[in-house]
Amino acid sequence: MRATVMYGAGDVRVETVADAGIVEPTDAVITVTHACICGSDLWPYKSMEQSETGRPMGHEAVGVVEALGADVGTLTVGDVVVMPFAYSDGACVFCHEGLHTSCLHGGFFGNADVGGAQAEAQRVPQADGTLFALPVGKDDALMPSLLTLSDVMGTGHHAAVATDVVSERGSEAVERVKELTGGFGAHSVLECVGLDQSMETAIGVARPGGSVGRVGVPQGETMPASQTAFYDNVTVSGGPAPARAYIEELLPDILEGKIQPGRVFDRVVRLDEVPEGYRAMDEREAIKVMVEP
Ligand SMILES: [Zn+2]
Repeated sequence: MRATVMYGAGDVRVETVADAGIVEPTDAVITVTHACICGSDLWPYKSMEQSETGRPMGHEAVGVVEALGADVGTLTVGDVVVMPFAYSDGACVFCHEGLHTSCLHGGFFGNADVGGAQAEAQRVPQADGTLFALPVGKDDALMPSLLTLSDVMGTGHHAAVATDVVSERGSEAVERVKELTGGFGAHSVLECVGLDQSMETAIGVARPGGSVGRVGVPQGETMPASQTAFYDNVTVSGGPAPARAYIEELLPDILEGKIQPGRVFDRVVRLDEVPEGYRAMDEREAIKVMVEP
């Protein structure tokens, strides 16, 4: 099958790899009908060291169930499903608490273990707990919006009501937010990208005693602007959004047309055009790129 592999910063290739197949009896294999490029895919795109073997990319998908392991009980071949960016059994103590990203039998997509979703097909471990069957056909007009349930909508939902749009970046953005908040900064800030620069901005716009909730995958081990955060008593907390936990809650609003999160996609590429999609997002020509393999 064809799949996207990143070999280093700026080096994304679409190549022929081994077909996705059932490994564990709890697995499913889906044919990917819609995938996308994530903001968190951009930081290896900027910084990944050159690798001989490369890393399969992609962790958000809608697809059609193609094969099922013997122990999968809730799905049928042909089901149209949304795949959140982390797999989970739906049964352990953390899944019951709604924290599926900490599942005792879980893990993340987009790596050598399970492969990536910017591909023609994807192996899905813990299929019963991970995949959510959608009540629509695979060509439904709502697909872009339904695809956002795999990550960006659930991640954003961890979130906010934005009353003013600040288009400035870096220190200019910090200045603008302080102007809007009487010179002090915001009580609550959401960091949704994970790059050092975005964390510096997020801590910069928080007022003393404020808090930064983060859902972007951090770029490094150490936290940027940690001295600013310390001296301003800024609380930083958060982690990966348990996107699986939010699907049931968010799906009705999408099906009823109340929200159209699919509008976040401002470019669509075929699988062979994925490297161009990375470049467009990296250079901010596109906000978020959808992939139709
Ligand atoms: Zn679990």
